[in-house]
Amino acid sequence: MYVPWLVDAARSTGYPVVEVPGWQTRGHGGMRVVEGVVGHHTATADSAPGDYPSLDIVTRGRADLAGPLCNLGLGRSGTVYVVAAGCAYHAGASRWLGFLDVNDEFLGIEAESAGNGGWTPAQLDAYPKLVAALLRYMNRGVERYAGHKDVCVPVGRKIDPVGIDTAWLRERAANPTATAPQTGVEILERVTVTPPDAGEHVVRVYLAGSAGGAIVIRPRLGGDGFARPMWVSNVFAWGSDRAGVGHNPAQIPGHDPKLTSHRRYDLPGAVWADVRYSAAEPFEIDLVG
Ligand SMILES: [Zn+2]
Repeated sequence: MYVPWLVDAARSTGYPVVEVPGWQTRGHGGMRVVEGVVGHHTATADSAPGDYPSLDIVTRGRADLAGPLCNLGLGRSGTVYVVAAGCAYHAGASRWLGFLDVNDEFLGIEAESAGNGGWTPAQLDAYPKLVAALLRYMNRGVERYAGHKDVCVPVGRKIDPVGIDTAWLRERAANPTATAPQTGVEILERVTVTPPDAGEHVVRVYLAGSAGGAIVIRPRLGGDGFARPMWVSNVFAWGSDRAGVGHNPAQIPGHDPKLTSHRRYDLPGAVWADVRYSAAEPFEIDLVG
């Protein structure tokens, strides 16, 4: 089957849609069934210009693998590129919910990202909307979305899409009203950290890379209304160019690593941050974009 409704589904996201000429009949044969969606990142360098510099490769393929390599592309602006209505070579050896080698069963989205966790706010808004739209057209639930990292065989063969948490995307896809465009001041995500013990550990969080990027670390309140103290010794953050951003609060004179209430750490431009902490109890990290 050559899926006829890809453009209609893509348009229902509200984002611009580019029909790549020939998409209606492009594929390694047709789809056998249409049962779900697999998310990917393109791993093309951030320095490549334009909205969707991977378009040629996902359409025509590379020396070792013939195209199409996805059914849909997602540009930096949130624009959706409709590439192929038939089977695309996107997942390789794979297994998910009883499906095996899912290329002719699951649609593949190749979203433009270098694979360092860097996504534009438009992509973080559009990616779940596109998944939701495709699942709606195939009348399937959000459990039928998975990342390449979830479906690959053997486990660990793939890491994409980096920075797009599967549970986060499903939650957004299931609640379209939660996918309002990001303004730069709202909480993008709340992460619960459960320490394995009271010793020193590091947790990595992923941010949107926006100028207003920050994390807010929130020790939990006990039954007596007081926060359980915890300690944050270092926050190391990186931008999409792999350069360090923000600051290491441990190097600021007078820094007190002990937190007895929430504290904000501004990390402008950060796409990920490592937080070194000690805490006896679970706590929350709010990601602000
Ligand atoms: Zn992939």
